[in-house]
Amino acid sequence: MQLGNVILIECPECGKNLKNIHVVSANSFGGRFFSDGNFYAPMYPKPINITRCSSCQAIFWVQEARIVGEQITRPELVDNNKVGEICHLNLDDYFRALNMGMAAKDIEKEFYLRKQIWHKQNELITKKELSQESELYKENAQKLEVLLNEGNPDERLMIAEINRNTGNFRKCLRLLEQKFPDEYLQTVRKMRKKALTRQSKTFEL
Ligand SMILES: [Zn+2]
Repeated sequence: MQLGNVILIECPECGKNLKNIHVVSANSFGGRFFSDGNFYAPMYPKPINITRCSSCQAIFWVQEARIVGEQITRPELVDNNKVGEICHLNLDDYFRALNMGMAAKDIEKEFYLRKQIWHKQNELITKKELSQESELYKENAQKLEVLLNEGNPDERLMIAEINRNTGNFRKCLRLLEQKFPDEYLQTVRKMRKKALTRQSKTFEL
């Protein structure tokens, strides 16, 4: 993993400067991949699109924050006492962002937030800390599905997984029967096997 520029952005609420370290090159070596598209890779930090200010806790989209400085330098050269760092949101934060209308009338933003919620909820379900029967889970999954397009193989696979997760095995299998490019076939086969045996939890690929 190679770190690049440190971009300093400003919290739109309190003006605190937060650093956003751009990753120049990353790879998924040693990564773990899951059936809902989630992954963890030691050399591939997930990009942060939306963050919470470390000072005033305001939530804001990183892309929309004012850039106050850029350093073509190493991250440790930025004074950590004066500057915060952007962070990933937690599950409550994502719901807060949705409830505050931060994705209103913007399908891409809503898709991003709901996908993060789905992934985080699936992590909790794997750890037995959340039920797949919970309304919060089902409601988010349904609203995420509406945003997706069956015609796109990536999104079709996601819709199939959402339906498997929520117990709609018939619809999951119907979607998996459609044509997928070769690189999807291994995942499609594994997902189909799970659906046929009525297993609904996200699994490691
Ligand atoms: Zn702030």
